[in-house]
Amino acid sequence: MPSPNPFRIAIIGSGPVGTLLIASVTQHPLIEYIQYEAKTLPLRPSFGCGIGPQTFATVKILNPPIYEKILEQSFTSPVWLNIRHELMDLLDGFAPEGFEVRYGLRVTNVIKSQQGRVKMSFEDGTEDNVDAVWACDGMNSLGRKLIQGDEYKPAEYSGMICFRGKVGTEKVAAAVGEELASKTHMFIGGTGYFVLIFPIVGGKYVNIACFMHEKEHKKRGRAWKTGLGDMPAYFPEANPTLLKLLEVNLMVMKNLGAFHNPDLHMTSFGDAANGMLPHMGGSMSTGFIGVTTFLHSELNPRLESLSPEASNEEIAKVITDASIEYEKKHMPLAQKLCDYSIEQGAVFTGGVLDIDEIQRRPKSLWRAATSQKVGLWE
Ligand SMILES: Cc1cc2nc3c(=O)[nH]c(=O)nc-3n(C[C@H](O)[C@H](O)[C@H](O)COP(=O)(O)OP(=O)(O)OC[C@H]3O[C@@H](n4cnc5c(N)ncnc54)[C@H](O)[C@@H]3O)c2cc1C
Repeated sequence: MPSPNPFRIAIIGSGPVGTLLIASVTQHPLIEYIQYEAKTLPLRPSFGCGIGPQTFATVKILNPPIYEKILEQSFTSPVWLNIRHELMDLLDGFAPEGFEVRYGLRVTNVIKSQQGRVKMSFEDGTEDNVDAVWACDGMNSLGRKLIQGDEYKPAEYSGMICFRGKVGTEKVAAAVGEELASKTHMFIGGTGYFVLIFPIVGGKYVNIACFMHEKEHKKRGRAWKTGLGDMPAYFPEANPTLLKLLEVNLMVMKNLGAFHNPDLHMTSFGDAANGMLPHMGGSMSTGFIGVTTFLHSELNPRLESLSPEASNEEIAKVITDASIEYEKKHMPLAQKLCDYSIEQGAVFTGGVLDIDEIQRRPKSLWRAATSQKVGLWE
């Protein structure tokens, strides 16, 4: 029978990190989870996702069935990425039975309420009282702002933009050949830009991600949206397929700041805690490393040794202790990788051809959490 007074944990955001958390947390009979997602269904454009080696390494430790499924459905290549299409649908399938995601509810505030609880407010005027909040609300996270209070600094525009497009494989093959259309490739060595391409959706499409320093944007202002007619200014000799791509401004957090606020019982994960530039494919990996440190090393063992009749105070203590330890262990690594992601952008767009220099930071990420030196998980 459900408890009349369960300990309620709200997860803000149903991106990969919020979804991995709920799929991998040890269930306790007196803890209830609810997930709030601002977007409405249907979600997610069908872009593929590059999955770095550390994402595989961490999920293998944290949740072996998810690891098996991702591996089964990924294109693997000896290059530097494992490519997974529709990762989100896969992760959804691992949510505990009866778990509810409430879509179309944007969290607008979280404040202290009575008896150690916190009150969440939503854009539609509704409210919810919960006992703890896990903020997985991405790069422009409200959770991070609330956790960090006066210390908060918003993510900054990095000065680089990305055009990203999904193009039919046949079209790409006709334009540049079968070899380029069917495998992962990176175009580096030029100055001011680099381009990454890889197959998705069982090889039906090619994902093209073009990163560049903006010059046009600076002239026109931060909020200016690039139209198709403006594209040739960025790519004077562009393949026509590039003109179909989408625009993303790349944001960066230089100093990550606190992941946990004990007063608000709130902890941040994923891009909300350690979002970084995508130049070495480290953002999601680092989010997965953080979730693994939090759950595998800290919270899950504590939940396993907690009495099934534990009081809400006992549960609160376990969650606070795990959050503090997670912040302590994960912060130095996350900050280092965040710094590296900024440096790597400069390397890829700086005309650098020295292979060791190009590989130094990504290789550090690949060994980041599982190396003997860091040894986050025994
Ligand atoms: C151009 C680009 C390319 C990338 N390519 C790759 C790649 O190939 N491989 C890879 O591993 N990573 C890639 N990344 C990074 C990857 O997308 C992120 O690291 C990952 O999505 C982070 O997951 P998350 O769950 O922390 O946050 P998000 O995926 O950002 O999810 C946050 C969720 O929270 C919701 N939300 C936000 N605010 C609120 C609110 N107030 N209330 C309720 N819900 C809210 C959002 O709607 C969203 O669904 C790329 C990023 C960029 C910008």
